[in-house]
Amino acid sequence: MSLLIQNGIVVNDDFMVKADVLIENGTIREVGKDFPIPENTRVIDATNRLILPGGIDPHTHMQLPFMGQVAVDDFYAGTRAALAGGTTMIVDFVIPSKDSTPLEAYSLWRNWADPKVCCDYALSMAITTWNDKVAEEMQLLTTPEYGINSFKFFLAYKNVFMVRDGEFFQGLKQCAKIGALARVHAENGDVIAEKQQELLQLGVTGPEGHTQSRQEELEAEATNRACTLAGQANCPLYVVHVMSKGAAKAIAAHRQKGYVVFGEPIAAGLACDGRHYYNEDWSHAAAYVLSPPLSRDPNTPETLMDLLSCNQLNLTATDNCTFTCSQKRMGLNDFTKIPNGVNGVEDRMSVVWEKGVHAGKIDPMRFVAITSSTAARIFNMYPRKGRIQPGSDADLVVWNPNATRVISSKTHHHACDFNIFEGMEVHGVPEITICRGKVVWENGELNVDAGWGRFIPVAPNCDYVFGAVKARQKHLQPISVKRNLTSLDNNLIPPQSESTNSSSLENSDLEAVVSDNKPGDQEEQSIETLIKEVAENLISE
Ligand SMILES: [Zn+2]
Repeated sequence: MSLLIQNGIVVNDDFMVKADVLIENGTIREVGKDFPIPENTRVIDATNRLILPGGIDPHTHMQLPFMGQVAVDDFYAGTRAALAGGTTMIVDFVIPSKDSTPLEAYSLWRNWADPKVCCDYALSMAITTWNDKVAEEMQLLTTPEYGINSFKFFLAYKNVFMVRDGEFFQGLKQCAKIGALARVHAENGDVIAEKQQELLQLGVTGPEGHTQSRQEELEAEATNRACTLAGQANCPLYVVHVMSKGAAKAIAAHRQKGYVVFGEPIAAGLACDGRHYYNEDWSHAAAYVLSPPLSRDPNTPETLMDLLSCNQLNLTATDNCTFTCSQKRMGLNDFTKIPNGVNGVEDRMSVVWEKGVHAGKIDPMRFVAITSSTAARIFNMYPRKGRIQPGSDADLVVWNPNATRVISSKTHHHACDFNIFEGMEVHGVPEITICRGKVVWENGELNVDAGWGRFIPVAPNCDYVFGAVKARQKHLQPISVKRNLTSLDNNLIPPQSESTNSSSLENSDLEAVVSDNKPGDQEEQSIETLIKEVAENLISE
C-alpha cells in the first residue's frame, strides 16, 4: 500500500518547504504538490507538523559483551527504542575480543543482529589488536560482500581493547590506503589505569572514582594526539563521544587548520553533567558511568551544542550501551568494575531538539544535519538515507515541534531500568515513525517485527570524507634533494680550493627541487605551530 503525508513541512538539511510526500514500496516517490495519488493510498495529515528524515544514530552498542556483562538492549529492544524516538537507522560496532579476528567477529554480529533488528543498520569495525592478518581483513571487510567503511581504535580500556600509538598509526595508514574512515575513542588509557589503582588504594571505591580517574585533560590530550597522528597518516578521523571542552577544542583547532576531523558529541553529554557521580545514591551515580565520563563542568553540555551549531562539531550519536541497575552492581566495591554505558538511542532526537532548536541555538535544518544527514554523508549512504527526495528510502518522522513529553524509565522502550534523562521535559515529539515505508510507530504504539530492519552495506572511498584527503596526498609526496656527493666520498675532506658547492647550488635541477620543497616546509611548520598552540590552550584550561 502507498502512503501520502499531507500538509506538513518537509525539512532537509538545506531547505524547508510545505509539501506532500508520496511513498510507494518503501521508497519516496514524490515530494511536492498536486501529483497523482494512486488508489488505496493511506493519507496521513501532518498539519502543523514537520516531516523529517528519520534519525541516524552512528554510534550504538546493542547486546555488547563488555566487562563481564552483556548490554541489555539487544538488537531487538534497542532498535525498537530507536524507532519510538524517531531514529530509523543505527551504526553499531563489531568489537572483536583480543583473541578473535575481525572476520570472525563480523559473522558473530551479523548473526546476532539480522534476525532481531527492527530498523536498518550498518556496522563499523573496532580494531583491538594489530598484525598483518588484521590489516588484510580490514581490506576484505571494505568489499561489497561485507560492506564496512569505517574502523574504530580505542586509546583507552588498557589490556582489553586499547591499541598502542604505533599500532594506531599503522591502522590509520591502512585506513587511508583502503579508503576507510578511522574512528577513535580518545582517552589516555595508560594514565587512567594508574589513576584507578591510586584511587582504589586511597579508598575511593564508588562511582566518583570513575570521573576522578579519567580527568578531562586525558581526553583532550588523546584527542589532540589522535588528530595529530591522523594528520601524519593523511587519514580522515572521526572522534566518537566528544565529552569535554578540551577535546572539542582540539578538534576545532585541527579543523581550522584544514584537517579532515569529525567530532561527535552524544545525547548524554548534551544533557547531563558529571555532578551525578557524586550523588549519594550509589545506583544513581553508577547509572551515569560511561567513558569518557560526563564533564564535571556544568557548562560543557551547552558549549558542545554551541559547537554543533557552528559545525566545529558535526553530528550527534548516543553510544547507547545499557546495563540494568543490578548489572551495574558488579562494581559495588570497585568503580573500575561498573559496566560502562548509558541509554540514549530513544531520546536523542528529542534531547537534541530541546537543547538545540527549542533553546534557540539551531534551526530545524541544522537539526536534520546533526541527527541524520551528516551521518548519512560520512558513512556514504547519502542521499539514500538522510534526505527526503524521490528515490530515497522512505525513512521519515512526523515531528510535532509543539508537543512535549517527560522522559522516564517507566515509559521508555529500552530493556534497562534506569533512564539518565529521567524527569526531563522535552519539546519535540516524534508522533509517527516510518521505516522503509512502513508505519512502525504511531499513537504511542510500536508495530514492527524482529528482522524488519536490514543490513545496509556501505562502500569505502566516500568523497565527503576523502575528497580533500586525496587532493592533499599530491602535495605530501616525499621530497628528495639531488646533491653532488662525489667530493664527500670515502670520508675525504674536500680541499677548500676545489669546492664545487657553489656551482652545484646554481644547478637548475636543484633549484627546482628546492622550490618544490617550500609547500612541504610550510605544512610542517604549520603542524608544529598547531601542536604548540593546542598544547598551550590545554595548559591554560
Ligand atoms: Zn562506544
